Amino acid sequence: MMKWFKSKRQKKGISNDGVSTDPVIITRSEHGVSRKNIDEPALKVLYRLHKSGYQACLVGGAVRDLLLGRHPKDFDVATDATPEQVSKLFRNCRLIGRRFRLAHIHFGRHIIEVATFRAPHGELHEEHHDESGRVLRDNVYGEIHDDVWRRDFTANALYYNIADFSIIDYVGGFEDIANKRLRLIGDQETRYREDPVRMLRAIRFASKLDFSIDDSCKQAILEMGSLLGDIPSSRLFEEVLKLFHSGHAEESFYTLQEYDLLKYLFPDAVKELHDKTTSEFIRLAMQSTDDRVKLDKPVTPAFLFAALLWAPVRKQTEANVEAGMHYAVALQKAATKLVSSQVQHVSIPKRFTTTMRDIWALQSRFRNHSGRRAYSVLHHPKFRAAYDFLCLRANAGETDLDDCRWWTELQEHNPEQQNKIISAPKHGPRTRSNKPKHSNKPKRDEGGNR
Ligand code: ATP
Ligand code: MG
Repeated sequence: MMKWFKSKRQKKGISNDGVSTDPVIITRSEHGVSRKNIDEPALKVLYRLHKSGYQACLVGGAVRDLLLGRHPKDFDVATDATPEQVSKLFRNCRLIGRRFRLAHIHFGRHIIEVATFRAPHGELHEEHHDESGRVLRDNVYGEIHDDVWRRDFTANALYYNIADFSIIDYVGGFEDIANKRLRLIGDQETRYREDPVRMLRAIRFASKLDFSIDDSCKQAILEMGSLLGDIPSSRLFEEVLKLFHSGHAEESFYTLQEYDLLKYLFPDAVKELHDKTTSEFIRLAMQSTDDRVKLDKPVTPAFLFAALLWAPVRKQTEANVEAGMHYAVALQKAATKLVSSQVQHVSIPKRFTTTMRDIWALQSRFRNHSGRRAYSVLHHPKFRAAYDFLCLRANAGETDLDDCRWWTELQEHNPEQQNKIISAPKHGPRTRSNKPKHSNKPKRDEGGNR
């Protein structure tokens, strides 16, 4: 066995930052990670690297999830082979990234990411940081004990060694996982400055894994949250998707609020959250996203972003209407204003903002229950998302449930019956003086402004 893998459990030489210079080795019989839970492509990559004389470990979230008895989302591999050496071993390999060069090994739709061990960056490597402490360049290769440093939390810094099926632990991650504790490696301030997105990752892992974050870590996040303002809005978009589309949106949303980070991501939405109906509506939107993810149904970022911005869009629309604009124009202007303000913080690709606008614009059109207008609503490509949105508004108490029920019932009929219902005179267009008899709640939605 290679000398850097000590076979007996030992822990000595702990540095000031809590990273031991000698790892604890958790042998095959002492942990529950089994190869049968590791995807075939990942095993292939690990074995080929190992057989070619390189060190090869499964690392990060995969080891953490396997220890927790969950199926990992993806399998990442760490090795002492350089990306070029990896690329020579695999025909299906592509090298990606400049700041951080990685090998991607393709197996159909699956990709195994192979990263070369990186050397540390700290005070000794100032040239790799900008003035706020952010890491700029990360291509200095090192050894496994160096690589630990670039990991964020102890639970994400375990290495499953294919040479002997042991787990290599430099930071106490094995114990932290057993205690469901999220602990940042090293000095918190330095590590959050290096990469402020780690604050969002802390929220994500705590919510997803039900791990606790200790008070000092919470304090650091409360103090340093504003550093998220320096992160490109496109990266924040990716991170927000991970927070909200992994089946733990509701929990993540509350944790973001608890850690006062929401205001750096959705400042306009945050200003309206004091309103109970608005916060209930957003809670329902998060919950329904979680339900869909759990049922493997498709989810679109447009829906959640539309929900988050709905209250400020409505407010601005009302102001525009009061200033004399026609409702449809007022809504479009409000949408443009809120979307351009939002994308300065968390970007939203154009294809999603288009859907958001459709969802918003359809809300008032749901009040038409007959004729050509109702027909075009029913056959609008974004009908389903807009209808789901309407139902959440109704369930939150923002608009009455009757519209929602009417469209629910309509969908239970076949297309021929639907056309009959829509063209039947008894469902003639509703006006203020022609409301259906079953409407016993006052209309409070924007449609009344038209
Ligand atoms: P998930 O289950 O969501 O994929 P993960 O832990 O695998 O969680 P990834 O974003 O896939 O997270 O990253 C893989 C590993 O890379 C992490 O476990 C961590 O060790 C390291 N890592 C990723 N992003 C960062 C970061 N911003 N700072 C430090 N380490 C990071
Ligand atoms: Mg991962």
